Amino acid sequence: MDNCIFCMIANGQIPSTSVYEDEDFKVVFDIAPAAKGHLLILPKSHADNVCDLPEETAAKIMPLAAKLGSAQMKALGAKGFNIVVNTGEAAGQTVMHCHTHVIPRYEGEAPIVANWAQGSYADGEAASVAQAIVKAL
Ligand code: 5GP
Ligand code: ZN
Repeated sequence: MDNCIFCMIANGQIPSTSVYEDEDFKVVFDIAPAAKGHLLILPKSHADNVCDLPEETAAKIMPLAAKLGSAQMKALGAKGFNIVVNTGEAAGQTVMHCHTHVIPRYEGEAPIVANWAQGSYADGEAASVAQAIVKAL
């Protein structure tokens, strides 16, 4: 897609620090890393977000993310990693070309993702919310 920064990076029109590439993806360093070695998995074909990705492409992302996270632990001494896919502006997506963050986590750091305030449901609310989701699937 014209004027899409991640299309240009994924297809080599803009240079980047890359650690992996195949026919579907290029994996590059995030320009403003949350931690040392923060990676972005960029599909080479444009999709605005994960909902628009072909299923066969989407299915390849999780195994690749796991492989990259394992390499971060082995090479960088990370003790874990977060796999993050922000989808939509409300969820914090700022670049509208689907991408998957693989963020290494080091000892002594506070969790950066799974530290949301823990909510609850009113009586019967969980069942009706579940029903709405089931209906929409
Ligand atoms: P989002 O919030 O959309 O999930 O994440 C977008 C990410 O892309 C951010 O972490 C941001 O630092 C990164 N980013 C934005 N522009 C560029 C760029 O030109 N090159 C690279 N490598 N990363 C970028
Ligand atoms: Zn794009």
